[in-house]
Amino acid sequence: MTDDTWGRVQDELCKTVGTNNYKNWIEPLEFSGVEDGVITFLVPTQFMGDWVSRNFGEAILQGLNGAGERVSRVSFSVPSTGRPAKAKPKPAVVAKSEDQPGAPLDGRFTFDTFVVGKPNELAHAAARRVSEGGPVTFNPLFLYGGVGLGKTHLMHAIAWELQNRDPRLNVFYLSAEQFMYRFVQALRDKDMIAFKQLFRSVDVLMIDDVQFIAGKDATQEEFFHTFNALVDQNKQIIVSSDRAPTEISGIEDRIVSRLQSGLVVDLHPTNYELRLGILQQKIDQYSEQFPNLVIADGVLEFLAHRISTNVRVLEGSMMRLFAFGALVGREITLELTQDCLSDVLRASDRKITVEEIQRKVSDHYNIRLSDLIGPKRVRTFARPRQVAMYLAKTMTTRSLPEIGRRFGGRDHTTVMHGVRKIEELKQQDSQIADDLELLRRSLEA
Ligand code: ADP
Ligand code: MG
Repeated sequence: MTDDTWGRVQDELCKTVGTNNYKNWIEPLEFSGVEDGVITFLVPTQFMGDWVSRNFGEAILQGLNGAGERVSRVSFSVPSTGRPAKAKPKPAVVAKSEDQPGAPLDGRFTFDTFVVGKPNELAHAAARRVSEGGPVTFNPLFLYGGVGLGKTHLMHAIAWELQNRDPRLNVFYLSAEQFMYRFVQALRDKDMIAFKQLFRSVDVLMIDDVQFIAGKDATQEEFFHTFNALVDQNKQIIVSSDRAPTEISGIEDRIVSRLQSGLVVDLHPTNYELRLGILQQKIDQYSEQFPNLVIADGVLEFLAHRISTNVRVLEGSMMRLFAFGALVGREITLELTQDCLSDVLRASDRKITVEEIQRKVSDHYNIRLSDLIGPKRVRTFARPRQVAMYLAKTMTTRSLPEIGRRFGGRDHTTVMHGVRKIEELKQQDSQIADDLELLRRSLEA
């Protein structure tokens, strides 16, 4: 590609991302080269590369391809002096031979940067075990869990570690989608022998997001043969999926049973402690690049509390906060955080359901759920019922008729009456006010 083409793509990008973004993030990119469909830009800091990749990677790709360049990936490289000490070499360095078969590994996804907590400790331990190499003890290692919980990170970490231990080892990482793509291409090029040879010559095979092959019969068939051939040779296989083997519909039984025949471990949704640990680690990771950044007490705790279980969202928020803090040049306070991340915070607000409220309220007043919802009108049931109705009206977006339906099919006027009653009592009766406060807090926790 010529600098000229990049210049034209830049002009286009300026229109799509806006002048501000353009000035901050696109203009400073220094075009370095294109190789094998990967375009590389030099950036002053790793942070900037990460940021641009996340926020404008797609737009840059589209722009380039629109200008007739055949580019499938954008990569960023920091001239060696500016790189944080811990970061591993960039993906492109992995390529040992001219025809490296696997997908590139992300230099940030190592064991060093993986924070271990209760929800992922088993998966981490299993990954560590496999990364030590040696005789294969369980085959395959099957990692599964929801999106953004660290499956790909762990797989790359295993690959890095194995390759560090023994650079001759042929570690082959790719997504199930890429597996299929290569398979289809081999069929089209009538080159199945080379395809089979390639896959049977690896020492370690990693297939990410295997659920992708559900419903794709020919690909499954080929996967099954590859799998068996490697297991027969005692070669380690590592597979990830967004769900357990038995829950992937559209996969043949024999493959499911193969997938289950080794060690199956899941990554649980993150908890508060793990999220806090990950945030802390991000700060350490980027602190060199933002020496003047000050984060007020309580901000990390707030984020760990409020942002969903998906680590990708958590990281993205943190990076936005860093960028914002660097731009405004002020301490990042709780207020600034709420401003800067209002959309993310709103999206991850936990939805409280009427059913949850009913359960909490009946526990609190020590009555049965059926009595809370049922027809009895005695005060011991009626008052808690009104409290629950009031909370349902104020803490959910349900309408009065919808709430009525959930309370044994009561009329919306009954609900309205209950809500008003509690609003009134709240002012006069400190016991009720305390109850409401306690229940509200416990529901929001
Ligand atoms: P998945 O493949 O399960 O969808 P990824 O491995 O792509 O998720 O993780 C999403 C992002 O969250 C990545 O940037 C990854 O580095 C980060 N991440 C996930 N879990 C952890 C963890 N325990 N410690 C540090 N970073 C994590
Ligand atoms: Mg993944």
